[in-house]
Amino acid sequence: MNTMDTHPDVLVVGGGIAGIAAACAATARHAHVMMIERNAYPGGKATAAFVGTLCGAYLNGNAPDPSYFQHGFTADFVDQLAHMSAQRPVHHQRGLWFLPYERDAFLALSNTLLSNHGVHVLYNTDLTGLTCDEGKIQSVDISSWGKKQTLFPRYIIDASGHAATSLLTTVDTITSEVYQAAAQVFEWKNLNNQDEFSCSLTLNRHLRQGIENKIISTDYRRISLIPGTYRQNGAFFKLGIAYPVSDHPDEQQKENKIIRDALQQITQYLRSASPEFTELKLGFIAPEIGVRTGPRNKGKYILTEQDVLTGKKHSTFIARGAWPVEFWHFNKNPEFHFLMDSDWYEIPAESIESDRFSNLFFCGRTLSAEEKAIASARVMGICLQTGYAAGVLAAGQLHGRSRQQDMETIQALFPNPPA
Ligand SMILES: Cc1cc2nc3c(=O)[nH]c(=O)nc-3n(C[C@H](O)[C@H](O)[C@H](O)COP(=O)(O)OP(=O)(O)OC[C@H]3O[C@@H](n4cnc5c(N)ncnc54)[C@H](O)[C@@H]3O)c2cc1C
Repeated sequence: MNTMDTHPDVLVVGGGIAGIAAACAATARHAHVMMIERNAYPGGKATAAFVGTLCGAYLNGNAPDPSYFQHGFTADFVDQLAHMSAQRPVHHQRGLWFLPYERDAFLALSNTLLSNHGVHVLYNTDLTGLTCDEGKIQSVDISSWGKKQTLFPRYIIDASGHAATSLLTTVDTITSEVYQAAAQVFEWKNLNNQDEFSCSLTLNRHLRQGIENKIISTDYRRISLIPGTYRQNGAFFKLGIAYPVSDHPDEQQKENKIIRDALQQITQYLRSASPEFTELKLGFIAPEIGVRTGPRNKGKYILTEQDVLTGKKHSTFIARGAWPVEFWHFNKNPEFHFLMDSDWYEIPAESIESDRFSNLFFCGRTLSAEEKAIASARVMGICLQTGYAAGVLAAGQLHGRSRQQDMETIQALFPNPPA
């Protein structure tokens, strides 16, 4: 093993959408980047839980075509994903735009980007420990197929989705008494409805009847069609999970079995309940249950729900968002709180910089934010932006560039004011 392998300039923990953006941004700025990912493939929630649509990349509004919040890496990623998925952005309620995507396209794009940027990726590799001293993380322990190793990265970007770095130290994390409800994404094939709308109506009616007649458990009453995914007589659905679920795939085994059995049972019931569903078949079931939120790293600034809903701006902004606060409860329908029309909020650099370790950045859904603020900022278009910024700032510090200079580089990618 050579020195570059044990002393990377930047270590990215987690190969989800935020980690991919961070790693590509840092390598593009001549940093030697290593990424560790505990799954055997990249994409995080986008592939493992296959959430189905990419939200938060486009400005809200009623213009006939969508426009991006941020040009450069974010817009290129989404454009390529649209092209590879053979999809176009969909215009939804209250002026929101989002992109339905194909899972294989997401995997292929992530693999290509990581390889073209020369990111050294270690799959099936977990962060297991770290040491810190003098306000810095000094070393990290990783484990790959039971083989342990210590690395000495100069900078670390935590893109783990759940504060994997901070949880291994004694520093505070941002926690919540109740996190948002998780969901299992799955596909039903051979739907025989006219369109997405009529499919949802028929499904809801029969589910309600099944629950009233005690054929289906009330635990499974929250099944919804993922907008924009209805095609070729098949569609993707989300089954809301009525109890807390661990974010670690190894710890989801028991729930996986229960949910798969329940999906079989619900499919059988629907087949007999409606002529539109007589041929219904279960298709793809996402390998992981999608856990929306968990503990987050605490930064120099904590993004608040009020910042989001009042469209707060920051001179040090590195990302913009306008996605509503979308809070998924365990036992009732999700809550949506929208920003003012055409407004947006800004995420400051201080929300991706650790308040304790000068060489630690974070991004994506483990950004420094309150639970209700992350209910907006966790969407993938915003994860791309915070990931990209973390990569630029880490590489900038590595090469001794000023933070101000890097922030100006990032801010130049945003149309100002967004049009
Ligand atoms: C059910 C559900 C529906 C959603 N719907 C949408 C939607 O429609 N549109 C949208 O834009 N967003 C949606 N989201 C949100 C979005 O998918 C996520 O917030 C986003 O993908 C998070 O990206 P990330 O890179 O920050 O984290 P993640 O995707 O969680 O990636 C983190 C990665 O880190 C790895 N990792 C974790 N710990 C370690 C460790 N110790 N060592 C090594 N690797 C580690 C994980 O395996 C994972 O690959 C949804 C989320 C869920 C759960």
